[in-house]
Amino acid sequence: MAKFDSEWIPKSAMTIFAHPDDTEFSCSGTIAKWAGEGCEITYVLCTSGDVGTHDLKYSPESLTVLREQEQRNACALLGVQQVEFLRHEDSRLVADLTLRRELVYLIRKYQPQVVFCGDPNQVFWGNRINHPDHRAAALAAIDAIFPCASMELLWPEEGPAHEVHGVYVRDLTLVDTWIDITGTMDLKIKALAEHHSQLDGIRGLEAMIRQRSADTGKKHGLKYAEAFRVIKLKGD
Ligand SMILES: [Zn+2]
Repeated sequence: MAKFDSEWIPKSAMTIFAHPDDTEFSCSGTIAKWAGEGCEITYVLCTSGDVGTHDLKYSPESLTVLREQEQRNACALLGVQQVEFLRHEDSRLVADLTLRRELVYLIRKYQPQVVFCGDPNQVFWGNRINHPDHRAAALAAIDAIFPCASMELLWPEEGPAHEVHGVYVRDLTLVDTWIDITGTMDLKIKALAEHHSQLDGIRGLEAMIRQRSADTGKKHGLKYAEAFRVIKLKGD
């Protein structure tokens, strides 16, 4: 299987997203599939979603504790080995050098072949506004991957330089890779349902996620799929 083909499974992968539950929505079918085939997975959460509710029974502190536990529970279901929380402030995430450097450290520490992230250009989703943290996390991830993590003379105290092989971008417009998640669709739904603080019952959401994944796979003869724009940085 050639590298970056839709059936290729790397040895290691990292996901970099803004909030608990973002990764489940974006790529958890693929994550569960790859983890099941022996790929070592590391989740990075830039914030812990500490203001992500309209329910005033929570404080930012109590919501952090709850949402981190929800994320860990989802990761356990998916077979994710490591979860890193950077604990930047929710809804105030900025793609600055502090965040970029933290991500460089983690990329060098775990040396993933593949990194998943969002699309930094996605201001709108159809007729909805994308959360600014989603764009900031995506931009910081891209900037950390290339060129910073791979530059030996840059921040040598953050670990030995590492070159990521490819970036799987959750891009809704320039998709070029469809991954069959038929076998892990149920796990994706279960992992999403672990985010109790965010979901008013899984039933409506489940129908929406299944429909979206079915629509994504339809043209390629797949029952359920996740689609990405793959940026190839290192061939063999
Ligand atoms: Zn989010």
